[in-house]
Amino acid sequence: MKKVIKCGQFFDSNTGKVLKDIAVVIDGNKITEVAPAADVCCKDAEVIDLSGKFVMPGLIDAHVHINMNGEASMQYAVTSDATAAINSMIYAQRDLMAGFTTLRDEGAQGYSDVAVRDAINAGKIVGPRISCSGEAIGGTGGHADSHFLPCVTGKHAFGQIIDGPDAGRKAARTAFKYGADQIKIMATGGVMSFGDEPGAPELTYEEMKAIIDVAASKGKITSAHAHGAEGIKIAVRAGITSIEHGMLMDEECMDMMAEHGTYLIPTIIAAHNIVVNGVASGIPAWAVEKAERCLENHYENLKKCMAKGVKIGFGTDTGTPFNRHGEQAFEFELMKKAGFTTEYILQAATRINAEMMKMDKQIGTIEAGKLADIVAFDASPMDDIKVMANCSFVMKGGVVYKG
Ligand SMILES: [Zn+2]
Repeated sequence: MKKVIKCGQFFDSNTGKVLKDIAVVIDGNKITEVAPAADVCCKDAEVIDLSGKFVMPGLIDAHVHINMNGEASMQYAVTSDATAAINSMIYAQRDLMAGFTTLRDEGAQGYSDVAVRDAINAGKIVGPRISCSGEAIGGTGGHADSHFLPCVTGKHAFGQIIDGPDAGRKAARTAFKYGADQIKIMATGGVMSFGDEPGAPELTYEEMKAIIDVAASKGKITSAHAHGAEGIKIAVRAGITSIEHGMLMDEECMDMMAEHGTYLIPTIIAAHNIVVNGVASGIPAWAVEKAERCLENHYENLKKCMAKGVKIGFGTDTGTPFNRHGEQAFEFELMKKAGFTTEYILQAATRINAEMMKMDKQIGTIEAGKLADIVAFDASPMDDIKVMANCSFVMKGGVVYKG
């Protein structure tokens, strides 16, 4: 039976405008019609009345780690791949219930993200759409390398460790062999990795280019964890799709990203939650110190990126300390604090992310022909963006999971 959703307020992610009294007709998993409610016939259809709600496309979080759920120290990861898969299933479901109908996982151990994605797609378990990176690719001693884990587990937490372009090529091919949808690389040091430096590049141009070329040859996207300016520039020159975090960038990075059409995923919440919770919460002192340094100019840099026309998406790095699945909507507030308009932020978390992920033919807007991924809120985020933390209706692929 067809479904008709009556939308009191309807967010058009193409224009950023809010329309009144729109009806969305759904047949199976797809949207077949979007029109003024008065023009739509509801005969023989199941009517879902959201006339008191703010309705928008399903949210897309372009940077999560479904293996992790906000543990204070990421040296926690002495779990098996099987345990990681079961945890990931639970965490991904929390994201779905918070309105995130699509996730891009940015690095998971043992391809546990792929296992969860496949189980969801096969209808064995409930969960969001997941675009997987499998194991992220990084250099020896870098952000994907686990300084202490190999002696415990005999393997790295969620990285393939490479040195040299040939090894990079092999790692990229391996990730696709085991089911990755995209490639994640660690272009610079990070915050939660002991002993490395966020400002320093950790892969060479030749290494990044070899990896990115493998993805490009398959029409797949790539993303780079990158803080420092040099690592960002190398990744942009090598053809990366998106820079993750980008917290220590300079103006040359911004100009290059605008010119190349490279996306930025700001993940403000990741550094914010580490700084706010601090050492007292159990986060290692060296990590808090690095997060403080990363956050220092991030808001200013985001304003400059905006002014220069850098394409900015929405991602949260959920899974990092005190950044828990289902609670990542706080990033909407932080993006508002950074100076983005609410219209833009909602577009970033829907259409712009879908474009970046090359999924814009399927998701990102509520239009005829697209998958019926639709969420709703009891009040309008245009009045107060905090409402994004209280999603009251979730539909994915025409099936209602909440509300
Ligand atoms: Zn991350």
